[in-house]
Amino acid sequence: MTDPRADVVGCYHVAGKAEFFPARYDELERQAVGMARVLQSFSFAPGSVILTVSSVGEVAQFAAFEKAIQITGHYGTNAEASMFDAGRVESICRQFAPVGVFGVTQATLEGLKMFGHDPERVFSGRTVWARPDAHEGLSRVAGIDLRRIVVLGPAIAFDCGKGGLHFASRDWALAAGDTLKLSSRMPRITPLDGVDTGVEGRVSTMPCACGSRDLTITLGVKA
Ligand SMILES: [Zn+2]
Repeated sequence: MTDPRADVVGCYHVAGKAEFFPARYDELERQAVGMARVLQSFSFAPGSVILTVSSVGEVAQFAAFEKAIQITGHYGTNAEASMFDAGRVESICRQFAPVGVFGVTQATLEGLKMFGHDPERVFSGRTVWARPDAHEGLSRVAGIDLRRIVVLGPAIAFDCGKGGLHFASRDWALAAGDTLKLSSRMPRITPLDGVDTGVEGRVSTMPCACGSRDLTITLGVKA
């Protein structure tokens, strides 16, 4: 029988309104197995450092990725996705030389500017998974292996080394509509059904060249 106690209370937003969902670590870590395979497509050297940039309210979305960092034999570190923690992002990049920075937001970029840090000096030579609001700004910065990460309500999708935007499709189903609607496929203490992700896109069932079996999304294309 499933123990209904929650380990964390996750949060996601639908049309700007916060929704909370109690979750268990094993539910979050279950997604990490597929994410690890997506992460391995980058062939980072064993023992590399990966910096995750997220907010406290996003623990349920990012815990699985942080577990995937451990599974693949890398070291994770993190910073807050805010202007005021951008100095920490710069400091970690300078001191720990992460191969990847995951989840950079526009607020991070504004914070770097505020503190007088050049994004090229901070991020050059690294793989950077940018949120949609930071993607354009980072596309103008030289020397970055620029990738995407998209929050899908209580889940995330992120690019593999072959450019496929994967989500944990063993755990989640995405249904087409004006925007993608997300439902849980596996047992959870908070079953979710038809959560509006606010993201326009289409799910592809074509296999990705990276070898991951997690499905991919094509953004901006309706089904
Ligand atoms: Zn892939």
